[in-house]
Amino acid sequence: MTTDGVFAVCPLLIPQNKDRTLYEGFLSVAGQDFPFRIELPKNKELKGSRILCSWQLQHVLRDYHGIVEQRLQQSPDISSFLVELKNILERLLQPKDRGQTTETPKLYSQLIQQIEDIGWENVVDIDSSFTNIQLRVADSSSRQHVITIHLNKQHPVVAPNCTAELPSAFKVKWSLQSKLGDILHQFSKELERYQDFFNIVDEIDKKTWVLEPDRPNYSVTLRRIALGSSSSLQIDVDPVHPRILPECKFLGADHVINPLREKLNTNLERWDQQGSVLTNLQSILDIEFPSPSKSQKQDFSMECGICYSYRLDTAIPDQVCNDPRCGQPFHQTCLYEWLRALPSSRQSFNTIFGECPYCSKPITVKMAS
Ligand SMILES: [Zn+2]
Ligand SMILES: [Zn+2]
Repeated sequence: MTTDGVFAVCPLLIPQNKDRTLYEGFLSVAGQDFPFRIELPKNKELKGSRILCSWQLQHVLRDYHGIVEQRLQQSPDISSFLVELKNILERLLQPKDRGQTTETPKLYSQLIQQIEDIGWENVVDIDSSFTNIQLRVADSSSRQHVITIHLNKQHPVVAPNCTAELPSAFKVKWSLQSKLGDILHQFSKELERYQDFFNIVDEIDKKTWVLEPDRPNYSVTLRRIALGSSSSLQIDVDPVHPRILPECKFLGADHVINPLREKLNTNLERWDQQGSVLTNLQSILDIEFPSPSKSQKQDFSMECGICYSYRLDTAIPDQVCNDPRCGQPFHQTCLYEWLRALPSSRQSFNTIFGECPYCSKPITVKMAS
């Protein structure tokens, strides 16, 4: 195996392919590790290389592109180029002595000033390269929200990319004069738009067993709520009109969910748009959802009885044994494959008639489409 000496110079820079034309990892200079990536062309000629480095490193090198380019042209191999690059960086990153103050890059000091205006107590996290800033914001109901601001490499020319747990993507309005505080201001306004949606899903998340998503948050409008030991109701709350009747989907054995479906259809007119989704559902279905104060979440797990998992690609175990004492759910594909392999099963067109793997009562399944 050929060695190219990169490990000796930059032990944190890891070859990504056998040809050793792509390295990714960190450049350690002046006690700091900077994300770094270098890609050599197929002919391994250094001068055609592409370098990708952190925003911070780019900033440090902003006036030295010519020098870096020249070193790339002249270095005989990648390890000697890396030695040169590290030397340049070492010089640039070293604090200047002789009474001179260290020159903080202008952008840094601006960002730090903007964070001071916001208040450091609202900072959740800032990464070492200063590209991801997480800030905490409280809404008018004192709920805490976190926004992650990802600064573009061309900041502030290009708008930062912001992510937060919201039911729709948060796009920031940005101009060259915009500051971090402006993002927070826009984010707060966005949070107020969704106050009622937060109220509605908060109540559901607190008072029922939400089986899906695993950790419910405000970016997901879907909730699958436990109804009983093998039945659940999946609803999709409209974030803009959270109090209207949500899309409802019942999952479970026919004898459990058919009566509920009927009640929903019969009592639809009783839906009261002043009330919450939870109170409306309970009143219209004439049930009380199992509550965390009285039950365990494990009582309502609905894993497939064949593969023992819940998600199979995107499918959930929605084929349920109709025997009231069994009610075991299965994935359609799992049950189909299981029954098809048994000589006792009978197939007619695309439906298989067989026995429930759990209770041996008759069960049918259609071929997965
Ligand atoms: Zn399965
Ligand atoms: Zn069964």
